[in-house]
Amino acid sequence: MSLYLASASSGQRFKIYKDFSVKDWNIEGFNPLEGQTMMMEFIPDNSLPSVVEADFWATIEEDVIDRTLTFKVVDREALEYIPYILKLKIHSLDNATFNIQPSPFASALDWYNWSRILRKMKKLEYRRTFVITSEGQYIMKTCCPSLNNIPDAAEAGFYKKLSSLQEKANMEVRPPHQITSHLNKIVADIEENSKEKSSEVIKQEVELLEKNFNVPKSTIVSVELKFENKIIPRRLIFEHQGWFNYSSFKFEFNDSEQKADWNNKVKTQGEFQLGVHGRTFDPLDFFNHLIRLKSEGEFNIFNMIEKLIEIKSEELPTVKTNIQIKFLAPKGIVQEIRVIIEEADEDYNIMEKLLGEENFIEAIPHFEKFHLHEENLAYGYALNGQYEEAINLADKLIRRDLSSVAHMTKGLALVGKHEYSLAYEAYLLGVNACTAEWYPVARDNLLKFIDLKNIELTDQLQKVVDLLSIKKAPLKLKQNCYCGSKKKFKKCHAKVTTN
Ligand SMILES: [Zn+2]
Repeated sequence: MSLYLASASSGQRFKIYKDFSVKDWNIEGFNPLEGQTMMMEFIPDNSLPSVVEADFWATIEEDVIDRTLTFKVVDREALEYIPYILKLKIHSLDNATFNIQPSPFASALDWYNWSRILRKMKKLEYRRTFVITSEGQYIMKTCCPSLNNIPDAAEAGFYKKLSSLQEKANMEVRPPHQITSHLNKIVADIEENSKEKSSEVIKQEVELLEKNFNVPKSTIVSVELKFENKIIPRRLIFEHQGWFNYSSFKFEFNDSEQKADWNNKVKTQGEFQLGVHGRTFDPLDFFNHLIRLKSEGEFNIFNMIEKLIEIKSEELPTVKTNIQIKFLAPKGIVQEIRVIIEEADEDYNIMEKLLGEENFIEAIPHFEKFHLHEENLAYGYALNGQYEEAINLADKLIRRDLSSVAHMTKGLALVGKHEYSLAYEAYLLGVNACTAEWYPVARDNLLKFIDLKNIELTDQLQKVVDLLSIKKAPLKLKQNCYCGSKKKFKKCHAKVTTN
């Protein structure tokens, strides 16, 4: 399988040569928030797409005068933080169960509103309850809510005081997972004595208070099935305690800059993104399988994806599904991992086909589009007479990795430009630095190229052909340089001299 890693900051992609495998996910099962939900029965609207089970980001809108409650399903394209998660299960056309819970982004005020509204629902204070899309289309209408797990008066009171402090301190506060009588008392004390205090002083007191909350770091995984013409995108949202340990991805980098960049991300839990190719299922099947695995008790999204992309056939199937995994920058103690499942780009399969046929010229636009197979792209440029592009890209690849086969492509492009002495130098560095099996391919490619481009075989050019006609092991960096300078290779020609 093919996996690539893209740095979110630079937008640059680079290939990873390791299998997608994650072993030590440092979490212990599900977050206790999972229990704090309410449940009610709904009647799905007839026009409802054939959703069986899905989660949604949601907001709650309360119309006090009309005594109407509306849960609005929100699309999170813009990645704003949404206070509630709505979980929907459709059992039959006239029966669906529905849960709503504060998201990890919910502030004290959001928790207060949630507890207050749930308590009002229990007392049947709303005449109507709806679930609608952000475009205002009705998804569901309630009938006889059956609620459980409703926050009690003390709990709601705690959230109320805390949200009032949040407002006075002019800061976002996230409530503790456990409301102890001790915490309750401190919050009540600060609240009572807050009247004459400045917001700056209250803020300091609340910050001190928050230290007692012991809210653990958590990870929210939001899986989204991107589908054209779907009114509501299906989602699967789940929460874990702890953050994912990046170092359990055993990535290997040739380029020292990329390596340093990655190490920094491991240290800072920085944002980055992964792309995974699904060759086994189309997007809808893939998503449904994820739901099944989750219902079977699997909770690690990486294990789930790994299971689902496993290829059982010997031949590599075409890519059906594109899976993007975005590790967003943590917001406070919450890190979000966004997984987007969508149909694969057919151009990718075309690229793989052209690559298999070694049709590098036709593959050029595809290589460019996906920023992949850059060594082949440089070679394609040279074959296509785009010598400057070939040399620039080869130089870049050599800077990134001295042992790259791009030396040979650079030599070829220079032959195309009739710069035989420079070509000889490029090839000479190549035969000393390139660790890939270049003999006799590099020579054969050169001879084919000379033939194809009708280049006259001068004595100078023959020297280049001769150079490539002898198999040679690469020099070690500590050996003396091939040029006779008596300096170490590392300090001489291996000090990449691209210009
Ligand atoms: Zn040298």
